[in-house]
Amino acid sequence: MPQMKIVIIGGVAGGASAATRARRLNESAEIVLLEKGEHVSFANCGLPYYIGGQITKRSKLLVATQEDFRAKFRIDVRTRHEAVRIDRAARQVHVMDHTTGRPYTETYDRLILAPGADPILPGWDGLDACNVFTLRDLSDSDRIKAWLDREKPARATVIGAGYIGLEMVESLHGLGITTSLVELQPHVMPAMDDEMASRIETVLAEHGVHLHLGASAEGFDVRQGRVVNVRLADGTILPADMVVISVGVRPNVKLAADAGLATGPYSGIAVNAHQQTSDPNIYAVGDAAEICHLVTDESAYIPLAGPANRNGRTAGEHAATGSAPSATPVAGTSIVGVFGKSAAMTGLSVKAARKAGIDCQAVYAIAGHHAGYYPGAEKLVLKLVFDPASRRILGAQAVGGAGVDKRIDVIATAMRFAGTIDDLAGVDLCYAPQFGSAKDPVHLAAFIAQNVDDGRLRQLLPGDAKPDGQLLDVRTVPEYEANHLNGAINIPLQELRGRLDELDRDRPVMVTCGIGQRAYFACRILMQSGFADVWNLAGGLTMHEKAWKEASVG
Ligand code: FAD
Repeated sequence: MPQMKIVIIGGVAGGASAATRARRLNESAEIVLLEKGEHVSFANCGLPYYIGGQITKRSKLLVATQEDFRAKFRIDVRTRHEAVRIDRAARQVHVMDHTTGRPYTETYDRLILAPGADPILPGWDGLDACNVFTLRDLSDSDRIKAWLDREKPARATVIGAGYIGLEMVESLHGLGITTSLVELQPHVMPAMDDEMASRIETVLAEHGVHLHLGASAEGFDVRQGRVVNVRLADGTILPADMVVISVGVRPNVKLAADAGLATGPYSGIAVNAHQQTSDPNIYAVGDAAEICHLVTDESAYIPLAGPANRNGRTAGEHAATGSAPSATPVAGTSIVGVFGKSAAMTGLSVKAARKAGIDCQAVYAIAGHHAGYYPGAEKLVLKLVFDPASRRILGAQAVGGAGVDKRIDVIATAMRFAGTIDDLAGVDLCYAPQFGSAKDPVHLAAFIAQNVDDGRLRQLLPGDAKPDGQLLDVRTVPEYEANHLNGAINIPLQELRGRLDELDRDRPVMVTCGIGQRAYFACRILMQSGFADVWNLAGGLTMHEKAWKEASVG
């Protein structure tokens, strides 16, 4: 049997996974990996932390070197070799060797495309200024680090508040640089629901980051080849010694499109469950390709490291052996850390579900990440999104300190198996006081969802239209006096059964407390005492204070 030849374009997350999987399953194949940059298999996810100084040695970012690939996997890695054209009829890739300047062609039996994504750039003058940066690879981080070391900038502006933007804000701030963050959407982390993302904004503001949300950057003032100001559409001028643009990425599809391969609705390379493109001898993985979304079962574009690695493995296996388990759909499970807090999500947010035309309900569980009586419990807010008809979990978001990742990973796992809120209510999680609670926040969220879906609790989310009724705060008197929602009357939960006559049974009652739990207890008392129209402000003051204040002012 003639030796099979697999050529891979792009040598980082998707490409490196494909190459090594192919080798492990096919010892005789010839495997060539073309990478246009200087390095293969580097940790792009670690770059912000190298810039910020948490990772001190650049070499730590090189997960595997060209030599490792040769010695351990007998993979012919060629760095500074750029694939410039694919000739599908001849099964050839045209390559430019940037070290020698020599063009050549490479034949293939199977071709795997893993060229990643390109940063989206605005069409302004001044993008070529020496202090404007994007962050995609090691050479970008080298440029940024060199600038920081040489120029010691005092002020930085980061444009775009997705996870790379936030990580850069934290790193630059940690270096003592006064940092402004500009985001076109009204909130940071635009994929999250607004009231969850705003919790991260509070953390950023507390650390002195200057937030410009719902603000459109529209250009630079450039002097002597340097940006000196970032101009916003509202007239704000942000003086800046350096600018980082992180407004998203677009799939790198030029090679594929030029070769006539099909692209999907998000302009990524369209692939089947084995990562094959419209040409079955050509695979595509990672940020260049679209994926199948776990919840919508439709094509989606989710450029993250996990899917790139896993789908690279699928493509490598299929290319090397002719078969492989189908790639699993992707929920977009992701996390960002900012100043010791974290924000994570999986699946659909409420706004994404509504946009997709999917009916959804949401609940909040607000609790410590481990038992409150054990020292060091950190509060987290967990939002669970589910389909009220099927009770299937659609997504979740969490913001807090420690333990955010665990809750989202548990829910992502339940979703992977099409879990319902009832499944989640019954998951058997490990517990000792320093690790969790016997009723974990994951369980609490599921219990609340069951109560809501079973009609045992009616709730109002922040922003929902409020019935014309009375607002009852069931916290203690000192708590109420310290802070309460405008218009609330106070009857502490402990006294409620004896003071029901102070409430008007003919008008709706909205009940609140700190996080929604005592209000739930109160709702149950009221509902079983003849009050017909009872509502819990979901998540209590923690979630409603801001929206209530804004509505009162409005
Ligand atoms: P890449 O890893 O980008 O690799 C593509 C490679 O292809 C590049 O090295 C490129 O030079 C090469 N290439 C392109 N065109 C050609 C060509 N014509 N010929 C030869 N070579 C070519 N994801 C997470 O899930 N969690 C995180 O915390 C996280 N943090 C991140 C932080 C940063 C700063 C960045 C930039 C990304 C981060 N990501 C994170 C995203 C994650 O790194 C990507 O989703 C993942 O690397 C995509 O893998 P890929 O193989 O598709 O592309």
